[in-house]
Amino acid sequence: AMDWEQMEALKTIRAFLKVRTSYDVLPLSFRLIVFDTSLLVKKSLNILIQNGIVSAPLWDSKTSTFAGLLTTSDYINVIQYYWQNPDALARVDQFRLNSLRDIEKAIGVTPIETVSIHPDRPLYEACRKMLESRARRIPLVDVDDETHRAMVVSVVTQYRILKFVAVNVKELQKLRKPLKDLNVGTYSNLATAYMDTPVMDVIHALVKKNISSVPILEKDVGSVVNVFEAVDVITLIKGGNYDDLNLSVGEALLKRSDEFAGIYTCSMNDSLATIFEQIRKSRVHRLVVIDEESKLKGVLTLSDILEYILLEGEENE
Ligand code: ADP
Repeated sequence: AMDWEQMEALKTIRAFLKVRTSYDVLPLSFRLIVFDTSLLVKKSLNILIQNGIVSAPLWDSKTSTFAGLLTTSDYINVIQYYWQNPDALARVDQFRLNSLRDIEKAIGVTPIETVSIHPDRPLYEACRKMLESRARRIPLVDVDDETHRAMVVSVVTQYRILKFVAVNVKELQKLRKPLKDLNVGTYSNLATAYMDTPVMDVIHALVKKNISSVPILEKDVGSVVNVFEAVDVITLIKGGNYDDLNLSVGEALLKRSDEFAGIYTCSMNDSLATIFEQIRKSRVHRLVVIDEESKLKGVLTLSDILEYILLEGEENE
């Protein structure tokens, strides 16, 4: 009976995502901060921090075109470049957002293709596109009738979509199966670190595994004491100061702003119903799965949840 209920709830969520569009997720009034690609990287950091955001669409004013999305990955690339070229600080200091593609080439990372979607398309499609490209956010791009130019309307994140589901789909209550009986989240080969691990090691782990957070454990005990997140690099290199890259994780975490959303945990006995309840109430970006002794069991991220609600039980995926 529980399996059947769980499947019914998933079907309701999928049907809901197919009849709603990205426009439905947008608040009635919102602001969109767009960066000109000629902006200095170090200035862009300060603007993000001042506005409490972690990403922004880019605009190339020379060609009047949308130039992709600036995300924490771009800053991590700059950090890696600096780490490989420590004598080039003067050059790094003068990097502009339009240098980001050259930095990708210099450090040998494959550029992330910017997927985008028209705001009128079903949310379901936006979710599928995000899962396929592993993007955590997707720009909503419309075409101006007169100029035929692409215009960025807004950006929709995984979090915003899951929150929208959490607020609007009452059948979520039926998702009562505990995590231990589901195939959602990661429970092996977890990347972790200690408070005294050099923060650069953690940043390298984020890149190597293409993940957005690393749980920080207490040595010998194994209990979770904190989580280092990809967004933490933004405060770390604030104002283009790269000295803090020599800190330990523990020291780096002390630089977090007061607005830090906090760390969310859950247990293998929690159900997605409870987890959606948390997403509805708070700005949850991932949950660290722990046991009764606060020992790390796994990581459950928004893309894991999104993948489960979209694809679980679907054939031919
Ligand atoms: P999201 O894509 O939701 O932003 P992540 O990029 O952190 O989240 O996660 C991508 C995938 O990697 C997910 O399947 C997640 O369970 C897994 N993952 C996340 N953090 C870790 C970690 N520290 N160690 C191993 N796997 C992880």
